[in-house]
Amino acid sequence: MDLSYPPEAEAFRVEIRTWLEDNLPDGWFDEEFDQPPEEKKAFNAAWPAKLYGGGWICAAWPAEYGGKGLSTLENVVLAEEFARAKAPLRGDFFGDTLVGPTILQWGTEEQKKEFLPAIMKGEMAWCQGFSEPDSGSDLASLKTTAVLDGDEWVINGQKVWTTQAQFADYCFLLARTDPDAPKHKGISYMLVPMKQDGVEVRGITQPDGTAEFNEVFFTDARAPKDNVVGGLNDGWKVTNTTLSHERGMSATTGYRRFEQEYQLMVEAARANSRIDDPVIRQGLARYYTKIQILRINGLRGLTQTLNGTKDLGVTSLGVTNKMFWSEMHRDAMELALDIFGAASMLVDTAPESSTWPAVMRGKGLDSYQPSAMMSAFFFSRSETIWGGTAEIQRNIVGERVLGLPREPKVEPQKK
Ligand SMILES: Cc1cc2nc3c(=O)[nH]c(=O)nc-3n(C[C@H](O)[C@H](O)[C@H](O)COP(=O)(O)OP(=O)(O)OC[C@H]3O[C@@H](n4cnc5c(N)ncnc54)[C@H](O)[C@@H]3O)c2cc1C
Repeated sequence: MDLSYPPEAEAFRVEIRTWLEDNLPDGWFDEEFDQPPEEKKAFNAAWPAKLYGGGWICAAWPAEYGGKGLSTLENVVLAEEFARAKAPLRGDFFGDTLVGPTILQWGTEEQKKEFLPAIMKGEMAWCQGFSEPDSGSDLASLKTTAVLDGDEWVINGQKVWTTQAQFADYCFLLARTDPDAPKHKGISYMLVPMKQDGVEVRGITQPDGTAEFNEVFFTDARAPKDNVVGGLNDGWKVTNTTLSHERGMSATTGYRRFEQEYQLMVEAARANSRIDDPVIRQGLARYYTKIQILRINGLRGLTQTLNGTKDLGVTSLGVTNKMFWSEMHRDAMELALDIFGAASMLVDTAPESSTWPAVMRGKGLDSYQPSAMMSAFFFSRSETIWGGTAEIQRNIVGERVLGLPREPKVEPQKK
């Protein structure tokens, strides 16, 4: 296996490295670099504009929509250099990773002009309105309706688990627009303004006190008629584009946060002598091995994409990827609890300075601020669920990749 990149990719790497060195705060690359909370807040607030100025947000998008039209390899090098520098490369996950690429693929010219620049500049926050109380894995059974009234859609129904809905300006939402069509055929994908009277957002508080996801109630909420993406009643194909981006992971950088955690677990096990326990040692060896499998499979996926042999989102590698890393991480976080022991229950006194890589870390309750490691443990329990559960991923592998017989469909009993 030749892991070297072509010279033009290496030249591009130098360009990004130089930009990062020029734009990150002084001392950023020093081992002991730390920012006081206020400084960190100011940095986070100013960073999206810097990224936009440098042209690095959504840099793979075509130049006519504000991107740099980067090639796949350049985009990978960009992600690698930002990951190496531990510098954020993202404005709003739902905007620039999920709905932006979906609008690029299926949106009208007017939609691209209206939404893509605002996503890129970080001026428009988004949430994903797919799941409903009785429609998660079986998403196509969703009941939220949209009915045309003049130039507007009138939307009624309830969504659930809607992450970041409390901050969102827009929701990319699935609604039934033809109640008489078979369930996959009567759904439309629409862009709905969130800041209006017909939309009520109720936070769902979790055990660690965070409430980053919500119930969202739509009662005669309105959206412009032209905000349907990919054609009326044709939302299912559009949804699959969004889901393939959600289940994908940056091919050659996704493993890095796990490696960082692995190092912290080894250090902790050495410090408290749990490293002498053979079960802990085996667990660490297993985690390390799986991280390397993830890394190598990322490179294999990249090679397939560069050779035009496969598309990262739908190949067996793409489909197994989410299931593989989420189950690996769930097991690794249980191992972390075994290593840290009672210390993992301790409340953080200075959570901002914790070295544990933060993933969707919320504010916590005033009375109980869990450690960063404990928050990562809690969050790992959700990783095999969001974006499609590991069981559903297995069904997809069985049916679409291995060509096994389709799972028998059981129709819900009429009440
Ligand atoms: C942290 C988090 C954030 C989320 N954010 C969002 C968001 O922003 N927007 C959004 O729309 N949704 C979001 N979700 C919802 C997520 O997409 C759903 O939870 C997920 O699709 C599963 O649906 P469900 O919870 O209804 O479980 P169900 O579909 O009821 O499944 C329950 C269990 O049954 C299993 N199961 C179901 N059907 C089958 C089958 N056919 N074969 C084998 N096993 C099966 C599942 O694997 C699961 O273990 C989020 C979820 C979490 C946990």
